[in-house]
Parts: sequence; structure tokens; C-alpha cells
Amino acid sequence: MTVNPNYFSYFVAFAVTGTVVAILLWWEHRVRTSIPKDRTFEAYKARHPGLVNGSKIRCAECNGAVVAVERMMGNTYRRRHYCKACGTTLYETKEN
Ligand SMILES: [Zn+2]
Repeated sequence: MTVNPNYFSYFVAFAVTGTVVAILLWWEHRVRTSIPKDRTFEAYKARHPGLVNGSKIRCAECNGAVVAVERMMGNTYRRRHYCKACGTTLYETKEN
């Protein structure tokens, strides 16, 4: 008498494990690449309406007018817009 192995249960276990891993990876990527609500340009503009005038943006800390951009790296796919004078991060944008 031979035992008939139920290969379908292996497939189900494999599929469930794969789905859980995929969801965890997706969630981790989402958290890593999303800009915190208080770090968006809109939030900066709402917080300091007098400092954002068209394309002219000033620093809230030192009133500096030179804003530089750098990639944040670490697979965040985000850019940091910071004050060249004091280094304060003003807001973040997504890399394209
Ligand atoms: Zn500054």
C-alpha cells in the first residue's frame, strides 16, 4: 500500500508564505519611501506661509535664502531640501 502524498498542501504552504513575505516587503518599502506628513512642501508652506513666495523659499530657522537639494540615500528614494546656511531640512520630495 502506497501513501499518496498531498502535494497540494505543499503548494498552499508555499503560496501563503510567499504572499506574507511579499506583503511585508511591500509595507517596508512603503514606510521607507513615503514622506512624513510634516515633511512635505505643502506642510512647510502651510507652516510658514510668509517664507514661501512662488519659487522663492526661505529658511524658517535662519531666514537664509539659499536652498540646496540632496538625495537622502539608504533606498529612501527621497530628496532633502535644506538650508545651505544652517543645514536645516525644510522639506522632502520624492526622487523621480
Ligand atoms: Zn537656515
